[in-house]
Amino acid sequence: MPDRLSPPVNVFAGSRLDRMATHRDDAEMLARHLASPQSRFLPLWRGRHLISDAGGVPCAAMPTLAELGAPDLDRHPWAFLGVDGAGGLFAVDLGALDDPAATIDGAPVTWRFEELRPLAALLPREEAALLAQARGLLNWRAAHRYCGVCGAPNRPDQAGNRLVCANGHHGFPRTDPVVIMLVHHRDRALLARGTRFPSGSAVLSALAGFLEPGESAEEAVEREVFEEVGVRVRDVRYHSSQPWPFPGSLMLGYHAEATDTALVLDPAEIVEARWLTREQLRQPDVHGFELPGPIAIARQLVEAWLGED
Ligand SMILES: [Zn+2]
Repeated sequence: MPDRLSPPVNVFAGSRLDRMATHRDDAEMLARHLASPQSRFLPLWRGRHLISDAGGVPCAAMPTLAELGAPDLDRHPWAFLGVDGAGGLFAVDLGALDDPAATIDGAPVTWRFEELRPLAALLPREEAALLAQARGLLNWRAAHRYCGVCGAPNRPDQAGNRLVCANGHHGFPRTDPVVIMLVHHRDRALLARGTRFPSGSAVLSALAGFLEPGESAEEAVEREVFEEVGVRVRDVRYHSSQPWPFPGSLMLGYHAEATDTALVLDPAEIVEARWLTREQLRQPDVHGFELPGPIAIARQLVEAWLGED
């Protein structure tokens, strides 16, 4: 059984950064960190992060502003993320540059912009969490250039962690909750392949779906399972959560017990669904499927259920 008091730390969680959330209005503090040679920046370029692989081990590159070639921060969206033991940390979106690598002053040849998802399991846990924070914040900023209330242009506020328009309407970072649930019935668990999975993929994963307005997470679990595979569930139990910055979700992981096993698939959502025994889940290659990768909370839900045996 999972430990209820200290749930597992999923990939993209586990940051130890002090976000300094109550100091984001402190202009003097912000100016000091912006001017400090100790401050480092996490650059994002068109969905990719600056990664160093010195020694063959990937890690997040965190250049100073000078090492970044001193980009004009009036032209590139940026945000204060917080402070760690070494100084201030900022996120900056260099998407306006055609080739940001060319502007980085004396950049080590081991620095390059990379997709986060394939690297996430290889990065130090706290660095993956920092990149998730930077990415989620900058994704939200890029998608909210205009006020949703009056349509006026937004400008950053609170060190880039809030938006405000000329009419004083505030916008706060969006996180879209998604429920993801491993449904089980006696000694079998249900995994499925969604219509949005890459073609040719052999991966079977847990069912998942966005919460709707006026719905609890537990109710969303019950609704999504019934909509996608026609199964009623009970005993919905929370497992853990995971930031998922693609572009800005929070995965809420659950286990749920099915009341029966007859499947009626929604062809718009689900290509295939299978009830799998623990023996099959422990040897997916023998049984013609793959489990989700280790960064996915779905994999942690499967491992936790296997551990209950
Ligand atoms: Zn407005």
